[in-house]
Amino acid sequence: MTFIGNLAIADSEIQSEIIIALSLMEAFSPIPPEWVEKATHAHGFCCSRCGQPPSKAEAVWVNRRSPVYTENHQRKWQEFYRCECQSVWWAWSNDRPPSEFRDRAMRNNQDDDFLMG
Ligand SMILES: [Zn+2]
Repeated sequence: MTFIGNLAIADSEIQSEIIIALSLMEAFSPIPPEWVEKATHAHGFCCSRCGQPPSKAEAVWVNRRSPVYTENHQRKWQEFYRCECQSVWWAWSNDRPPSEFRDRAMRNNQDDDFLMG
């Protein structure tokens, strides 16, 4: 238990809040994490080494600073994923299969909603 004033709060509640905040911060940080440097461009929206989908990745970083405009005037940006197998890959955001990703994200982690915008 942690005491804040007279309130006793279960540590597990605080930790899960912190973990969510940290993962959001990393995904949208303007500063690329170090592991991004090793990324290779994946063909198909999955790990090029083991084929795991992005919902299995242990870390994600979205390069929102440098959007590129497609021929349809839609923005796309690089999404970087560090896979469970430690392989690092990236792909264009508009190459992500939307329905499949949403289904997986909703099932695995409801906090992934921020990626849908
Ligand atoms: Zn992998």
